[in-house]
Amino acid sequence: MNYLPGFYTAESIPEAVKYEVLELLESGELFRYSSESESSVSRLEMEFAELMDMPFALAVSSCSSALFLSLKAIGLEPGSKVMIPAFTFSAVPSAVVHAGCVPVLVNVADNYRIEMEEFEQKLSEGIDAVIVSHMRGHISDMDAIVDLCEERGVPIIEDAAHALGATWSGRKIGTIGQVGCFSFQSYKLINAGEGGILVTRDVDIIARAVLMSGAYEHNWKKHPKINHRFTFWQNKLPLFNMRMSNLTAAVAGPQIREVSQRVKAGQANYDYVAKILNASDWLHVPSPLEKEVRAPDSIQFNLCGFDSDEDAKEFQRRAGGKGAEVQIFGLSEDNARAFWNWKFIHPQNDLSPTRNVLVRACDVRLPVNLSKKDLDLIASALVESVREVKEMSCPVDYAYGPEAQ
Ligand SMILES: *Cc1c(COP(=O)(O)O)cnc(C)c1O
Repeated sequence: MNYLPGFYTAESIPEAVKYEVLELLESGELFRYSSESESSVSRLEMEFAELMDMPFALAVSSCSSALFLSLKAIGLEPGSKVMIPAFTFSAVPSAVVHAGCVPVLVNVADNYRIEMEEFEQKLSEGIDAVIVSHMRGHISDMDAIVDLCEERGVPIIEDAAHALGATWSGRKIGTIGQVGCFSFQSYKLINAGEGGILVTRDVDIIARAVLMSGAYEHNWKKHPKINHRFTFWQNKLPLFNMRMSNLTAAVAGPQIREVSQRVKAGQANYDYVAKILNASDWLHVPSPLEKEVRAPDSIQFNLCGFDSDEDAKEFQRRAGGKGAEVQIFGLSEDNARAFWNWKFIHPQNDLSPTRNVLVRACDVRLPVNLSKKDLDLIASALVESVREVKEMSCPVDYAYGPEAQ
């Protein structure tokens, strides 16, 4: 059998996790609020807050829960309009709908970032909150987004599920908006199977989120000391029970210390593959914005000069046959990142610009532990496959150039 790179290998679990998990199993203290001493979940919250230079963090069951709790914690009225990019994971419109709000989608450009003219126009038509989803770690123009939102007093929630370790003008992604949400699901930079965390500087947002996450009675006493806000909100909010288990925290915690090394490895892998792909006339990896430093664990690129979906799918088949698994966001059935499959949301304005991007936008995982041999195999599978398809789809004489009659 041919050698295949480990696309679906999640990030590896550090040795330290085993001891902490064993200790937990022996103690039986799996619930974050059961013991008097500091729990694995509170330790994770402290370490994560420190990593992000933020005063408050709340660990929860997933990034989806973090997004939902953020919307509830900023206190949106039912029916509030929340702007989200039209290219994101279905968890994002889902969180908006669960929070009783209405998602308003804004188009993205072919570099996967929010179309800023349309963003400004939609914002002025009345938007109550914005979720900036840093989809696949691509950062939109945060200076413009913050300026426009601050002018109108619109809160920003950052969906940084796939952007842990990325920065904008030196500021950590996830710390720019009122709340930042992260994921510990297996295919993110920290792999705990499931799990999420939110960070904020706002005492009321953290107090409300902690209580609604399921810190019933006086369990909030095991969170950072902002007692006056906890006693103010006590018994005034519904509970959703989206807590994190100590087992999850024990798996995620030791990986926090590996974030900077994983980010460096991810950047190096990405730059290496991007350079090879960009040398092809038919593949284009969009450049990052000037103020953005990315933290990629996957690569996205556009097929150029592909008029037919069939040719695009043929490229995908051929690349897969050579060992490079490609997802074309807009061409696989029921893809969760294609907005037309979110049939649970209200009808939207014209989203054809985003649709046109997604039917040619390819996605290939680049787990940070891939070897140079893996990267070479992936890059050459992509470049060769696209060449084969282009040569095949052109009439023979044209394949040698229009002059060669
Ligand atoms: C993975 C992901 C989510 C959801 O994270 P979960 O922890 O699985 O709920 C949300 N947004 C984006 C951009 C993601 O990549």
